[in-house]
Amino acid sequence: MRTSNYLLSTLKEAPKDVETTSQKLMLRAGMIRQLASGLYTWLPTGLRVLRKVEGIVRQEMNNAGAIEMLMPIVQPSGLWKESGRWTKFGPELQRIKDRQNRSFVLAPTHEEVITDIARNELKSYKQLPLNVFQIQTKFRDEMRPRFGVMRSREFTMKDAYSFHLDKESLVETYAKMHQAYCNIFTRMELDFRVVSADSGAIGGATSHEFHVLAETGEDLIAFSTDSNFAANIENTEALSPFKRQAIAEKTMTRIEAPEVRTVVQFAKQYGISIEKTVKTYLVKASDKMQEDVIALVVRGDHELNETKVAALCDVAYPLHVLTDREACEYMTGGKGALGPVGLGVPLIIDRSAAVLGDFISGANAEGNYFCGINWGTDVDATKVADLRNVVEGDPSPCGQGKLFLKRGIEVGHIFQLGSQYSESMGATVLDVYGRQQAMEMGSYGIGCSRVVAAVIEQNNDNLGIIWPDAIAPFQVAIVPVSGHKSSRLLDVAESLYTELVSKGMDVLLDDRGRFGVMLKDMELIGIPHIIVIGEENLNQGFLEYRERRTGKKQLMSVDVLKAYLE
Ligand code: ATP
Ligand code: MG
Ligand code: MG
Ligand code: MG
Repeated sequence: MRTSNYLLSTLKEAPKDVETTSQKLMLRAGMIRQLASGLYTWLPTGLRVLRKVEGIVRQEMNNAGAIEMLMPIVQPSGLWKESGRWTKFGPELQRIKDRQNRSFVLAPTHEEVITDIARNELKSYKQLPLNVFQIQTKFRDEMRPRFGVMRSREFTMKDAYSFHLDKESLVETYAKMHQAYCNIFTRMELDFRVVSADSGAIGGATSHEFHVLAETGEDLIAFSTDSNFAANIENTEALSPFKRQAIAEKTMTRIEAPEVRTVVQFAKQYGISIEKTVKTYLVKASDKMQEDVIALVVRGDHELNETKVAALCDVAYPLHVLTDREACEYMTGGKGALGPVGLGVPLIIDRSAAVLGDFISGANAEGNYFCGINWGTDVDATKVADLRNVVEGDPSPCGQGKLFLKRGIEVGHIFQLGSQYSESMGATVLDVYGRQQAMEMGSYGIGCSRVVAAVIEQNNDNLGIIWPDAIAPFQVAIVPVSGHKSSRLLDVAESLYTELVSKGMDVLLDDRGRFGVMLKDMELIGIPHIIVIGEENLNQGFLEYRERRTGKKQLMSVDVLKAYLE
């Protein structure tokens, strides 16, 4: 590629509101541009990196025996109702309607569609095990999109799904995926850790996350000083009951957030009956914030049963009327108790309080503490300090060593789903004895676009990005000093360019002319190997080689340089 034919789009400064190094550098290096909140265009330089990440992921998945396919982003809501996630997934699930008023979702993940494929295509145990994957766009209406492509609403995920006759086979494939993920992140030269995780809205029992260690990470990982114990603190089950309680106490304020309004509070505020309050609230909602009402939580033993509420609620938006049990599942991803149950009142959850879907902790009537799903999105600096006080220096639940916390970026997540989807959606095969049996399933995700940002968080300096060779947009930059004036320099640059390209390297020839500008851009973009061609050095038969990571400069003859780059 020659710069003159390319869209370089580098910036001297990043916009002011940009929080993280990776976001700043991705904007400055001309990798991405924001279209709207959580929506990004991948400019050519960014796309080159993303494609390389996807390439490594694809290769390792193929090596591990997974087979590539592709499923639609737009999915009929019926499948989500079958699996039960139409209500459970919460406000991150983007619901849309077509011109015939049929409801669809924009896929936040693809368990439903693949289970539908499996129940139609798989008939016999002889077809198992099967592991399929895709690299596809996902959409999640994240409560707080931020950090660029790190937490965007539209993003690229590699997701794989495996099908098995029994648990043993699932465990075998799970181990293969675990290894494939280690290979993938090792090839990208990432400093990562595998940690035991909470399964969140995807579900299942056993799950592990792959975290890139970085101060900008939104997750907190508890490590033991003396063993391999590592758990995301979202996974409160891995922490002791004491810790669960202590962490919950530290985050209790969330429950008192003003957006979480109990019906009783409303009733008191307006001095009217609970029924009238519900009605008032919902009428108001239907007027101006209909779309914001996510759910009405009704305690099972409350005078307002579902039918009654449904009759009261004449709103067009698919309002979920949840019993406390369902609300609990909805808010805690199927785990723990419903926090405010302790208050013994129904709740109205609106979109601003969707924080509940993402982050909740509390105590139930019996005083059992729990923490809910997806802490990550909201662990701010003060909370981290609080949590450090609570968690660090207590003995590790594994019995060896003490716990300490580190921040991590979740780049991958693997799940042993078991048979929850195959049972709810009727995905069965005939076993050896000719009996119908629900399949065991696994699900395996990597956030390809998030990986790009995570790599930058670990590989940068004050000049810009420093790419590992394997995913650099270009491996080599050729910079002829004042190339626009000297045809001799340009000739040398062109012939070197042609030769390196013919050897399969990705090379960017900067033919713009102003040395300072060119060099700064190549360093900002993070091209690992930079070749500077200048008159004086050339007179003595040398080119200057600069290694981006170390900044080391070295004069080399063309032949030595070519041999070095191979
Ligand atoms: P998070 O805890 O960060 O919200 P998640 O646990 O909801 O992530 P999964 O459902 O496990 O995500 O999806 C698999 C992978 O997809 C994640 O490990 C992550 O790498 C990626 N991913 C999830 N949400 C986003 C997002 N909003 N933007 C970019 N990548 C994402
Ligand atoms: Mg997570
Ligand atoms: Mg999430
Ligand atoms: Mg996850």
